[in-house]
Amino acid sequence: MKGVCIQGVTGSIGSQTLAVTDLHPDRFKVVAVSAGSDVAALAEVCRRYQPQIAVIADQQRYADAKTKIAAIAPATEVLAGPQSLCEIAVQPNVDLVVAAIVGAAGLPSTLAAAQAGKVLLLANKEALVMAGDLVMAAAAESGATLLPIDSEHNGLFQCLPDGQADPSLGVDKLWLTASGGPFLRWSAADIDNATVAQAVAHPNWDMGRKISVDSATLMNKGLEVIEAQRLFGYAEDRIGVLVHPQSIVHALVEYCDGSFLAHLGAPDMRTPIAHALGWPDRIDSAVRHLDLTKLSQLQFEPPDIERFPCLDLAYQALRAGDSAPIALNAANEVAVEGFLNGGIGFTSISAVVAETLRQLPVSSPSDLESVLAVDAESRRYAQAAIGRFTRH
Ligand code: NAD
Ligand code: MG
Repeated sequence: MKGVCIQGVTGSIGSQTLAVTDLHPDRFKVVAVSAGSDVAALAEVCRRYQPQIAVIADQQRYADAKTKIAAIAPATEVLAGPQSLCEIAVQPNVDLVVAAIVGAAGLPSTLAAAQAGKVLLLANKEALVMAGDLVMAAAAESGATLLPIDSEHNGLFQCLPDGQADPSLGVDKLWLTASGGPFLRWSAADIDNATVAQAVAHPNWDMGRKISVDSATLMNKGLEVIEAQRLFGYAEDRIGVLVHPQSIVHALVEYCDGSFLAHLGAPDMRTPIAHALGWPDRIDSAVRHLDLTKLSQLQFEPPDIERFPCLDLAYQALRAGDSAPIALNAANEVAVEGFLNGGIGFTSISAVVAETLRQLPVSSPSDLESVLAVDAESRRYAQAAIGRFTRH
């Protein structure tokens, strides 16, 4: 029986993780859970799973969370604040940590799980973009096992022998696929006028709002290129992106002999979640399997970085290294928030990120504290840029 800690349990990945653990009560026990600020949803998880500990990250909701949870899960200890996210990740009875908080807020607890030698199931790609070196080094030192949940990286992990990156393997290139998002066939002028409702309506995947906007700008794929570099160690010119509107092939590994190994599956996150939860065993995910005879075609095309400049900005930040990926991620979080609030237009998201990358002085953060300092400084630059792009 494995003790599971689910960070971001009320989100899209969090709830799909519960859907998979529900199928295997003999294997998994949910012992610790966290949420940002949604007390009602966290309380409902506590009622159903009676975990040992529940964390509400937003301090101001502590009293409300404590009262609501005490009434329906009296044995659950309720904690609050960002520091508590790290505490639950390192509990001795936690074997697996599912890192499913969205954004930079997930970094400290993801790093804590890596330092504590846990089996770390990683959905929180922003943590790797910001501090991939720190997370990978901590995992190597503690003996933590890192298993990607992001579907493309989970696919790459499955197509690489032993999930390993090793120069002797004969790998030429890693390929990530992108659906292209809701604006794949839109003109630049129409994209400029895109509404929030249009941006979050993803054609193939049902996800949280931030990653849905990232999919529409292709920043999600840019963050994923950086995530792949961190996880597998290949240089950025050996990580490519293919637009594949059907979202059936999630990733491919191209070998030096001309072989391509591809990962196929229905666009349903329960498949990579089940793969990572069960690893090295295969376990049921309740996902309806593909009927290959019903697939009429699989298309692949190069991404258009003219209409989707965020992908190119991410490659630039990866090449620049040092503080640039942190600035990219922070500016993107601020800009996406600005777009979701109606403050800036869709096209201004890439403009805010580009301006922040141009203006932020380069530095070389080498520990969590300095990474978070760069993150905070980048947010100030991005906020100032937002002011210049605000819609009137
Ligand atoms: P979501 O918005 O649906 O859920 C986010 C979760 O994080 C919620 O439980 C929320 O309460 C919690 N949270 C938000 N702010 C927090 C804070 N400051 N402190 C603590 N908790 C906080 O997001 P999601 O779609 O589930 O995505 C989660 C992560 O997984 C992201 O990094 C995303 O890129 C990645 N991911 C998601 C999908 C998907 O299909 N949804 C696929 C691949 C990768
Ligand atoms: Mg993905």
